[in-house]
Amino acid sequence: MTATETRHCRIADCIAEVPPALRAGAVCLDHFLDEAFARADSALEKCRCGELIDAGTLEWLFADVQITLNALSEVARTRDLAQQSKILELLLCVANLNEYVAHHSVQASHLS
Ligand SMILES: [Zn+2]
Repeated sequence: MTATETRHCRIADCIAEVPPALRAGAVCLDHFLDEAFARADSALEKCRCGELIDAGTLEWLFADVQITLNALSEVARTRDLAQQSKILELLLCVANLNEYVAHHSVQASHLS
């Protein structure tokens, strides 16, 4: 490990830089969004199949949203339209999940 400030994405063959908001996961924004979207999507799929979503899954989803919102400022700065629309898609997906959960009496443990 060198003491350089620039960190690169942990995904193989990806040379994108990791924005400050995503340092904890060590992934670039594109890969973070891909992973978050895949998780949100599979959670939504579970809902549609009538499966319950556990509190742990909900918690990471909302944690992801928090990170996404933090990363938004970076994206706004670069004016990357593709990333911006990806973020909107992710937020919409999580909003749908939220809606679903609210109507199916699934409760996150911290909302007691
Ligand atoms: Zn990457």
